[in-house]
Amino acid sequence: MADCIHLLPDAVANQIAAGEVIQRPASVVKELVENSVDAGADKISVIIKDAGKTLVQVIDNGKGMSETDARLAFERHATSKITKAEDLFSIKTKGFRGEALASIAAVATIDLKTRQTDKELGTHIRISASEIEVQESLACPEGTNFMVKNLFFNIPARRKFLKTDQTELKHIINEIQRVALAHPEIKFKLVHNNHDLLNLNSGNVKQRIVGIFGRSMENNLIDVKLDTNLVKLRGYIGKPEKVRKTTGEQFFFVNRRYMRHPYFFKAVSSAYSRLIPDNAYPQFFIYFDIEPDKIDVNIHPTKTEIKFTDERTIYQMLHSAVKEALGKFNLVPSLDFDKDETLNIYSGPRTNFKAPDIEVNTDFNPFEEEKKSTNVYSGSNKPRTNFNNTQKSDLNYWQNLYSEETPTNSDNENRQTQISGIADEQNQFFQIKQRYIITTVKSGMMLIDQARAHERILYEKFVVQMAQRKGVVQKELYPINVQLNPEDFALTMELIEHLNNLGFDISVFGDNSFVINGLPADISIENPKTLLEELLENYKSHTGDVKLELEERIAFAMAKASAQHFIRKLQPEEMQALFYQLMACKIHNYTPSGKNIISIISVDELEKRLK
Ligand code: ADP
Ligand code: MG
Repeated sequence: MADCIHLLPDAVANQIAAGEVIQRPASVVKELVENSVDAGADKISVIIKDAGKTLVQVIDNGKGMSETDARLAFERHATSKITKAEDLFSIKTKGFRGEALASIAAVATIDLKTRQTDKELGTHIRISASEIEVQESLACPEGTNFMVKNLFFNIPARRKFLKTDQTELKHIINEIQRVALAHPEIKFKLVHNNHDLLNLNSGNVKQRIVGIFGRSMENNLIDVKLDTNLVKLRGYIGKPEKVRKTTGEQFFFVNRRYMRHPYFFKAVSSAYSRLIPDNAYPQFFIYFDIEPDKIDVNIHPTKTEIKFTDERTIYQMLHSAVKEALGKFNLVPSLDFDKDETLNIYSGPRTNFKAPDIEVNTDFNPFEEEKKSTNVYSGSNKPRTNFNNTQKSDLNYWQNLYSEETPTNSDNENRQTQISGIADEQNQFFQIKQRYIITTVKSGMMLIDQARAHERILYEKFVVQMAQRKGVVQKELYPINVQLNPEDFALTMELIEHLNNLGFDISVFGDNSFVINGLPADISIENPKTLLEELLENYKSHTGDVKLELEERIAFAMAKASAQHFIRKLQPEEMQALFYQLMACKIHNYTPSGKNIISIISVDELEKRLK
């Protein structure tokens, strides 16, 4: 039989390769923009027609190409970026495979105009379905201008599979965001069907994030920073209360290249556990700086997945860097985000407060007693988690929240009068079904889940207490003997020291049993045995996939176990105390397990309801 193997013609081979590299208009945008970055451009414009199906044009002011290079650039495996195998381990450019232009040229019509800085004339090449149609010299601006027209015109099946313009455009925007975030020093412009979609000036990372995602991001970013021999991390994470229910604003970059990394994603999101609901995703923009030989970018043709040699170590580092950043960021309660700048209760004296515009029951003032010693109010920089002082220490914050005006620096006397003014005009609290509390805030009506609020308050308090080893035993009990099954007994043995740090007084009493002599302060509970059992149950059921510190887990389990009994009638002053304590928590809108604690019903919504 005759030989039947033959080499495929270049055009066919390129078309096959294009199937991998060029999947949609956004892939063209990505490849061209990355080439512009590699060419040293500091200004890149992207012009799109019909979501890229008709035209993708990328214009840069980079170094341009000579006539020979312009012609060679469309050959497969033609690249100026690496020359030998070893170079693969020290890649600093976006591209290196030399397949993008050959692939695009196989499935579209390209007009390339390019001129090198020191040349008078440039080059124009037209290539369509891998065939060179025009090659000529011409006068053109410095840099490179690619026009890619009629993508997939010669592969109708591929063209048919493109999604709606809206979807394709979204992919394009995503690609540009990634490069733009990796290179805030480069000016970017994106125009779609003659509308400007992005117009980004050069700046730093933060300015770039704000440029892309809007002003609201400005007050939402927490710094992340870590320097080790292995890796340097820089970037920002979003505040827990600004989390989103969808993935989207999550970006990792390694050596200025966007990457997807589900494992590292988990390192970040698990650092947020207990701070955000389970189904929400934190925002982050994290930049890794690492020796190129510690990563392998060669893993995937579209190059967004990157393999690290030391992933587990980096996971740990990343996780703790994010956790530390969240910890340092002493969350200022922020219910009315539009007034963020007024919420920083630590930054100097605040004066000229306007009293809240609410009705007051003049017959009742639960703080009659305390009010006499007004000096308590001035200690605004006491630790916010200090349970007993929270009602007073956060008064500034509450004044700000209720105030329609931005406080300005003014005299101190005024402040004192204003403060007592506020203390007189307490807002009112109402209870529904022994479970919910309603009160007024500036923007409308606030609904609070009482048990969940209690859970959050206890959780934060327990965490602090355990760290300081000073839980207060409140109730001396008639000793209660608790018999447990062997598993629970073993677990209690493990936890006993921590439980006693929390204010329990538990000791071992023979076979599988304990004696409880005392309980922590601030938990109201009828049956300590049930509490212990529930605590163990919560502890066991919440191992999850996230490895939390032992003490955090205990605090979590304890808070949950004791708070679920917190359904009862509350006196107005109790409601008020709960409210202030909640607002003094680091996180006040979610329980440690991520359930909503408060909901604000705006005046607009109220109006709508009564229409
Ligand atoms: P790669 O980027 O992997 O090298 P490409 O097919 O994307 O492969 O590009 C081939 C070559 O064309 C590049 O190596 C570069 O030398 C040249 N090139 C492409 N785009 C530009 C540009 N905008 N400015 C200057 N040179 C470019
Ligand atoms: Mg390239």
